[in-house]
Amino acid sequence: MPSYDVIVLGGGNAAFCAALAAREAGASVLVVEAAPQDESAGNSRFTAGAMRVAYNGVEDLKRLMPDLTEEELANTDFGAYGDEQFYDDLCRVTQYRTDPKLAEALVTRSLDTMLWMHAKGIRFAPIYGRQAFKVEGRFKFWGGLTVEAWGGGPGLVDAHYAIAERNGIDVRYQSRALGLISDDGGVHGVVVRIKGKTEKIAARCVVLATGGFEANAEWRTRYLGPGWDLAKVRGTRFNTGDGIRMALEIGAMPYGNWSGCHAVGWDRNAPEFGDLSVGDGFQKHSYPFGILVNGRGRRFVDEGADFRNYTYAKYGRAILEQPGQFAWQVFDRKVLHLLRDEYRIKRVTKVSAETIEALAAKLEDVDAAGFLEEVRTYNSAVQTQTPFNPNVKDGRCTRGLALEKSNWANPIDTPPFEAYAVTCGVTFTFGGLRIDDSGSVIDTDGERIRGLYAAGELVGGLFYFNYPGGTGLMSGAVFGRIAGGAAGAASRG
Ligand SMILES: Cc1cc2nc3c(=O)[nH]c(=O)nc-3n(C[C@H](O)[C@H](O)[C@H](O)COP(=O)(O)OP(=O)(O)OC[C@H]3O[C@@H](n4cnc5c(N)ncnc54)[C@H](O)[C@@H]3O)c2cc1C
Repeated sequence: MPSYDVIVLGGGNAAFCAALAAREAGASVLVVEAAPQDESAGNSRFTAGAMRVAYNGVEDLKRLMPDLTEEELANTDFGAYGDEQFYDDLCRVTQYRTDPKLAEALVTRSLDTMLWMHAKGIRFAPIYGRQAFKVEGRFKFWGGLTVEAWGGGPGLVDAHYAIAERNGIDVRYQSRALGLISDDGGVHGVVVRIKGKTEKIAARCVVLATGGFEANAEWRTRYLGPGWDLAKVRGTRFNTGDGIRMALEIGAMPYGNWSGCHAVGWDRNAPEFGDLSVGDGFQKHSYPFGILVNGRGRRFVDEGADFRNYTYAKYGRAILEQPGQFAWQVFDRKVLHLLRDEYRIKRVTKVSAETIEALAAKLEDVDAAGFLEEVRTYNSAVQTQTPFNPNVKDGRCTRGLALEKSNWANPIDTPPFEAYAVTCGVTFTFGGLRIDDSGSVIDTDGERIRGLYAAGELVGGLFYFNYPGGTGLMSGAVFGRIAGGAAGAASRG
């Protein structure tokens, strides 16, 4: 039987951070990836590469992004996003359910982990396009999200593969792990189906980084609830919960928000799974500047409750709960220049019109009379005396509605009008496995399962109900590095 010190299951960001850390500890490392090479790297490849990192000011960012030019430094207000703020954001959006130990590790090790990735050869850049608006000649970052991987998700994972190759890490594609080889002494290897042939591979330690169960319609319905089989999957079709299942089969403890997931507004006509030629372009994240209506023509969320980073991940569920599982986002000319780049892709479900009545007639499956009444009521409730400012929570709200809009409220009254149809796109699931501070998987008695570690989406306990944008890659990096480092050291000890 072939053998390695450490086998990492999965081929995304968490897996490669784990593999690299294990290799750094001196271990021989094999990465086992279910997808063929051209679909490899899981959800990580689909991302924009945004990573939420705690930093105390521009000096920290210069360490991460030494390519920042003098001009960029002069024209940008990067602000600061300290440990406390990151921790508070995580606690607030998860309704104070996040596991404090996991949250603290994530926050306090975020900058150090990104510097480690940078030292290994991964490059980062400021997210000018999506996280900063230019006001009075200066860019200002908002929402705690400032840095992205160079080249987005594809750039990040291509860099990971190149670095793995340089560091002598073996990678097998089209190799789906089926189960763990274990006994009372712990885990000793994996059973893998490699290009249709089942094989056993021995290992001193195994790191699970196979993502959540978002691509498994049956598990979604079983754990997230009725209707979730109807959601579109934003990313890879390979994350079917295998790593979680394998660990549960040998006694691992289920942990975290098993009925929760990250889900967003996603083009109503997007395919069943993600399409790498479009990436994250089917998402439609500029709703804070417009209104969101359902088939009755009625609003159903506070579109401006917070910066979109703190609401987008829970509004997919709200859309799924509407009749027919769809909604329309509606904007007028005043904000069209603020719409993100994803609104200008070719494969978009969009209608436009010169009058609001003509727009109403074009909104497929929407009660036009209900919609027109809703717009009239909404328009008359906007507090226009407060100035509109997209860079801050401007407090420009509505007054007197049953469902208020808290910020960025504008009357929808200036042609042309545009509307975009969305449904629920599931990103990843929140429930998973319990790990300790070494990344070891914990069993139902609260003990470590020897030789078994986990990182990334399949770790439970960090996210409940909601999620602060850019935390998924950061979590995979921090806990991948921890798990891989510990597995590497244990395999050599
Ligand atoms: C469209 C989209 C945009 C996103 N944008 C961002 C963003 O900008 N910033 C951010 O932080 N997060 C973002 N996310 C979330 C982010 O993608 C995830 O949180 C993160 O990539 C998870 O990393 P991971 O390594 O745990 O999982 P993945 O990257 O999904 O990797 C899991 C891997 O496991 C493999 N696998 C599954 N089963 C098996 C098996 N049985 N055997 C072997 N291999 C297996 C899969 O093929 C895959 O390679 C986005 C997600 C999507 C879908």
